[in-house]
Amino acid sequence: MMMNAHVLPKQPVTGLDVAALRAQFPVLKREVHGKPLVYLDNAATAQRPASVIDAVSGFYRDYNANVHRGVHQLSAEASDAFEGARERVRAGVNARSTREVIFTRGTTEAVNLVAQSYLRPRIQPGDEILVSHMEHHSNIVPWQLLCEQTGAVLKVIPINERGELLVDELENLISDRTRLIGLVHVSNALGTVNPVQQVCELARKHDIATVIDGAQATPHVAVDVQALGCDFYCMSAHKMYGPTGIGALIGREELLEAMPPWQGGGEMITRVSFDETTYNVLPHKFEAGTPNIAGAIGFGAAFDFLNATGIDAIAEHEHHLLQYATERMQAIDGLRIIGTAEGKGPVIAFTLDGAHANDIGTIVDQFGVAIRTGHHCAMPVMQFFNVPATARVSFAAYNTTDEIDVFLNALETARTMLL
Ligand SMILES: *Cc1c(COP(=O)(O)O)cnc(C)c1O
Repeated sequence: MMMNAHVLPKQPVTGLDVAALRAQFPVLKREVHGKPLVYLDNAATAQRPASVIDAVSGFYRDYNANVHRGVHQLSAEASDAFEGARERVRAGVNARSTREVIFTRGTTEAVNLVAQSYLRPRIQPGDEILVSHMEHHSNIVPWQLLCEQTGAVLKVIPINERGELLVDELENLISDRTRLIGLVHVSNALGTVNPVQQVCELARKHDIATVIDGAQATPHVAVDVQALGCDFYCMSAHKMYGPTGIGALIGREELLEAMPPWQGGGEMITRVSFDETTYNVLPHKFEAGTPNIAGAIGFGAAFDFLNATGIDAIAEHEHHLLQYATERMQAIDGLRIIGTAEGKGPVIAFTLDGAHANDIGTIVDQFGVAIRTGHHCAMPVMQFFNVPATARVSFAAYNTTDEIDVFLNALETARTMLL
């Protein structure tokens, strides 16, 4: 048989046992419209392995209790599991200590916490905040709110036609009024992997704080917050095989120590009277109220899953899927890939001449293929590329080239129907 040297083989060339991996995900066994589910909407939320589902349900089934307050056995077990999860998150991104790991509802809440508790007390009218043109709304709107509240100014770091950050332009934008740079590590709308380490180094030189949106990085690459050199790092468990409604803010301890609490209530105090209230130590100072205990435990289990599977093996497999799909999609008439950055993550956003993204999504759904269509919570990206919306496929560890073939066939049907 003749093989075209430029076309990737169907079978993955990586060490990941994808069949065994798929067997860990109950939902992958189901059908949609009578067809096997092909789930390619992982950048919106990934599926959960049985180990994560069991960790969550096991908490409710076997030792449900509130944390940190009880002297009874169940509370001790719940507290151990909750704090054990915090240690897994710490180790998962190499934070210095669990005092630097604040559980939040996710990336969105983590960014808002930094905006309101870190930056708000430090910012003056006319001070400047820089974010990139490829940010998710969760790393734009909290800063816009802060600007409205304080008279600060939001400035945008430009990108190029491939969807890459223009670091030189960033250097030009930095002034003595710049207080903070917000940057997405891996773009959910484009797949771009940003030079976070380089940007953080630049920021540090100018004494500017950095907030990195890591929602799309932690599922796909090894993240080391110390090596990156950022001040704050945000993530969401549900993007990385964990539960919804839980995530974390990793912050430098000295910054977190100096920050006022964000929300008041239980858990975050040591003593309350009507004359004076003293706050709890890190990380509890920022965790008012009963936390999402089951979610945190599931978050810890998600890191266990990533470690057991191997993040490098996942990255290699996903890169193969990305290349396989990209080669075939590039050959489709009228298809334009939005986001072609060097070394991008496993996301392919695209438009098809003469077809609305929503219609494409609806048609491929009939084949059991789940893709996302719309603005992907990154409307400025759509404005930059001058498109109303894109369709997007995004890959996870359990996806296969066979699934990509199913998608491509469904896409071909959509194309013939819509053109
Ligand atoms: C999903 C996502 C977010 C928001 O995460 P939430 O879990 O909804 O808070 C932020 N940034 C990026 C890049 C994302 O993909």
